Amino acid sequence: MIKLRRIVDDVSERQHNGSGLRRRDTHLLRTIIIKRLSLVAFFAAMSATAATHEYVVTVAEDLGQIQVVARFGAAVTDVSARSRSAGEFLISAHDCNRDNTLPIAPRLVIPNSGLRCLAYRVDLEKAASLDRRYYQSDAKSLIVRIPLWMWRPRLGGADEVIVSFELPDGVNVSVPWQPLADREDSFRLTSSPQSGSAIAIFGEFAAETVRVADADLRIVSVPSRANPISAEVIDWTRKTAELVALAYGRFPNRYARVLLLPVANRRSESAVQFGRVVRDGGNTIELMVDPSKPEESFLNDWTATHEFSHLMLPYIDRDERWISEGFAQYYQNILLARAGRYTQQFAWQKLNNGLVRGRESAPDLSPNEAAGGEERNTRMKVYWSGAALALLADVELRRRSAGEESLDYVLGRFQSCCLPSPRTWTGMELFEKFDALIDEPLFVDLYQRHADAAGFPEFRPVLDKLGVVVAGQDVRLADDAELGEIRDSLTARRYTGESGK
Ligand SMILES: [Zn+2]
Repeated sequence: MIKLRRIVDDVSERQHNGSGLRRRDTHLLRTIIIKRLSLVAFFAAMSATAATHEYVVTVAEDLGQIQVVARFGAAVTDVSARSRSAGEFLISAHDCNRDNTLPIAPRLVIPNSGLRCLAYRVDLEKAASLDRRYYQSDAKSLIVRIPLWMWRPRLGGADEVIVSFELPDGVNVSVPWQPLADREDSFRLTSSPQSGSAIAIFGEFAAETVRVADADLRIVSVPSRANPISAEVIDWTRKTAELVALAYGRFPNRYARVLLLPVANRRSESAVQFGRVVRDGGNTIELMVDPSKPEESFLNDWTATHEFSHLMLPYIDRDERWISEGFAQYYQNILLARAGRYTQQFAWQKLNNGLVRGRESAPDLSPNEAAGGEERNTRMKVYWSGAALALLADVELRRRSAGEESLDYVLGRFQSCCLPSPRTWTGMELFEKFDALIDEPLFVDLYQRHADAAGFPEFRPVLDKLGVVVAGQDVRLADDAELGEIRDSLTARRYTGESGK
């Protein structure tokens, strides 16, 4: 069973509850907003030249407040913070070119004539205290969601914000944005999917940049007196991230950030209690880990591999998240087998079990209905219908091309052209792009056959040909299978850097 605590997610858009809107209303509202914003972004990209906005963020010694001075590349009228709660933490705001105070209640009001320079102060500690999950009043660092303090214009295609932090001695900052090579504590924020969940950390914390395949991964450990993150856990994080390179030889994102959030949970054996990817101004993989768990628990974990696997795809519209979740489910098992953390047999057992449960889940719904609708108990459908589709595509690509093409090959080419992506993709767009990267189309056909059809992609004949034989609950691998070589190319061990289980 997947434990509820170990919810795995790929977050770019998060609703703020408590507005009085029912879920269906917010869903509809979100759809309308996304469509409007796409149009706005489209026209902005067509009409405007790129703007560079310069932000200087000065952090108070006690981390209580920040002062932000924003100089805009062009006059702006649409400055917002993307969180309904942000106004509560705004202490003051003024137009720094005219020295006019700007109204801030109930929200920041920008004059119709536009603004070239905005200075504002935020109660950082109060904003941090909103998230009980992260907040420790005695800690020497503050974890604050960026939409609670970052007031900025919407970014068109080539717009950017250069943010420089002025920090007291001993205070560091971590944000998901791209660090500037030539300026310390300065970052570049460009257009991206948006999330209410993007996190900044201020204060004392450990951070290191490690080389993962050909990428720089920033690993940030949130400090905890009771449960400090050890060097072994950081090393496990690096090695687990590196498993993703077993797909096509590279890490999918050159500047990703991992946040290790220490927790203690004696009632669970899992080393990783929760994981998710947050896409906003950069990709952050958040892992809530229990550093007190033995090494064995970390090596048995699949949550982190699942989250890292998400980075091989761009952010896909939440209503079609069966694609992103399914590809991550498929790859977490494939990669853990290639790494030797799973035996081949164990990987196919996990895939078979998941696919069977996916087939039994919400059989009357299509994957799109299961992912986008209000019905409950669709989780297995959402997580495994995309995995079935990934398996069918992968085996067919390998079969018809005699191993020249594969899902690894498609995703590698996709990474070269399109990752990290500044925007949200639809499933159809993604599969059209995949088809453009291979000899003969395959993906759009699979999408059209399954995305809006009830039932579940038929996976059993493919498993039979691969020699994945099911007897009762158990899976056995046959020696003489028609597609046995393909099975081995999918899950045979490729990596000898660590011992298997
Ligand atoms: Zn996921």
